[in-house]
Amino acid sequence: MQALLESILDEVRPLLGQGHVASYIPALSGVDPHQLGIAMLGTDGALYQAGDAETPFSIQSISKVFSLVQAISHAGESLWERLGHEPSGQAFNSMVQLEFEKGRPRNPFINAGALVIADINQSRYAAPILSMRDLVRRLTDNVQIISDRAVADSEYQYRARNAAMAYLMQSFGNFHNDVDEVLKSYFHHCALSASCVDLVRGFSFLANSGRCLHSGESILTPRQAQQVNAIMATSGLYDEAGNFAYRVGLPGKSGVGGGIVAVVPGRYSICVWSPALNASGNSLVGMAVLEKLSERIGWSVFSPL
Ligand code: GLU
Repeated sequence: MQALLESILDEVRPLLGQGHVASYIPALSGVDPHQLGIAMLGTDGALYQAGDAETPFSIQSISKVFSLVQAISHAGESLWERLGHEPSGQAFNSMVQLEFEKGRPRNPFINAGALVIADINQSRYAAPILSMRDLVRRLTDNVQIISDRAVADSEYQYRARNAAMAYLMQSFGNFHNDVDEVLKSYFHHCALSASCVDLVRGFSFLANSGRCLHSGESILTPRQAQQVNAIMATSGLYDEAGNFAYRVGLPGKSGVGGGIVAVVPGRYSICVWSPALNASGNSLVGMAVLEKLSERIGWSVFSPL
């Protein structure tokens, strides 16, 4: 497995000049695009890593899975009164459907949906920024995890579009807390920094029927873990979820920091990171790495496992 990861990274290195790092905020636009790392954690505890697997990066939308898990843990099924679990087929920050669908976001993994989830969590936790950071520290088994202040501040400064979505949802009665406060929480979640090695630990519960591998803690029931994997498989890669299912065939979640987490249920959590993005906002090289991995090993939830 180790040799396979290294040879796949070598094969995709020529692609490293392609794509563009996220430029919607200055704090992300300066990241070196030539970085590339991968980690894989088996449910048997075996950890494999190659390249820049221990370099922390901005997890961005990958945080939306942690926020969803937090909301499921206290709101359960009632959550779905506020948003759906349908693919959007639109960009991560699109708001076209929100107007037509009366302020009810399609799913928790586009910005509009993640903002509703952040609103739900804001009502539940006295210190939403810290409670999320602590959840991620617990799941990754890394007490050093922090939110990058410069990224969070930059997101807040350029918040117009996310704020517009929140106010539109508020106008439909689907946003209950102070918009600015919820935005600050949401941006701090997106600005959490973690490495591929941290994130394979952080997502081990989704490969392990809801149970965190290193602590044994039950994070979700097996049924809930299966459902989160289903939403990742259908909505985890913005308007490229179909392409990801076709090319990779695993539940996944990407972020505009260039990370992609994927889950082989019952077997592995995987994280690949390379900052340059394709036109859909997903790591260009990360997609290529996961495609090669799934092709070589034959992992896909759409084929016999
Ligand atoms: N913090 C980003 C935003 O709200 C999330 C981007 C992403 O990774 O999808 O624009």
